[in-house]
Amino acid sequence: MSFLRRIIILLLACVSLSCTNHEQTSVALQPYDDFNNTLIKQVSSSVKEIYGFETVVLKHKPIPREAYITVKAARYRANKLLQILAEEKPDTVTYILGLATKDISTTKRDKDGNIKSPKEKYTDWGVFGLGYRPGESCVVSTFRLKNPEHKLPLRLQKVCIHEIGHNLGLDHCENKMCVMTDAAESIKTIDQVKLDLCAACKKKIYN
Ligand SMILES: [Zn+2]
Ligand SMILES: [Zn+2]
Repeated sequence: MSFLRRIIILLLACVSLSCTNHEQTSVALQPYDDFNNTLIKQVSSSVKEIYGFETVVLKHKPIPREAYITVKAARYRANKLLQILAEEKPDTVTYILGLATKDISTTKRDKDGNIKSPKEKYTDWGVFGLGYRPGESCVVSTFRLKNPEHKLPLRLQKVCIHEIGHNLGLDHCENKMCVMTDAAESIKTIDQVKLDLCAACKKKIYN
C-alpha cells in the first residue's frame, strides 16, 4: 500500500470515528418506583430537541434503599443516588438520569466547602435535582415540582435539562431566562426560565 493511500485511509478512519462519537452521545433514563411514563416521554423529547442526544429508557426499579435517610424527614440522598446511577450506567450510554418521585436531598455548602448556615437547615436540604459538573449521572425528583400538578411536566423537563447541562460542564448562568440559571431555593425561578439554553451556554457546549 502506498504511503499516500495509507494516510487517506487513516484520515477516513478518524473522520468516521469522530462522527460516530458525536452520534453516539446518549442518555439513559432510569425511572424509579411508579414514575409516570408520559413524563418519561416528555423528558426524552426535550433531551433530543435541546441536546440532540439519543435516549434509552431503562426498566423501572425501586429507588435504592441505600440512599434512604431520616435526618429531617424521610428522604433519599441525591449524592448517593448519583454514585449508584454512575455505577449502574450501561457502557453503551454516555450519561444517566435518575427520575424519582420521592423527596431527594443534599448538603448545601458555601464556596469554601463548609455547610451553609444555619446548619440545621442546610445539612439535609431538599432539592429539585442534582448533577455534578462535569459528571456522568444526574437525578431529578417530581416531589417538589408537582404543586400544582399541571405545572409538573414543563418544570420537570427544565430541571432535567439543567442537571444534564451540569454533567456537560455548564455552570450556573447569569441570564435569568436561561435554563441554566441558579434555581436558588425557589420554584418561581424554574417557572420563569425558558425550556432552552441561552446562546452563550449553547456556544460553550458546541465549541
Ligand atoms: Zn444547578
Ligand atoms: Zn445560559
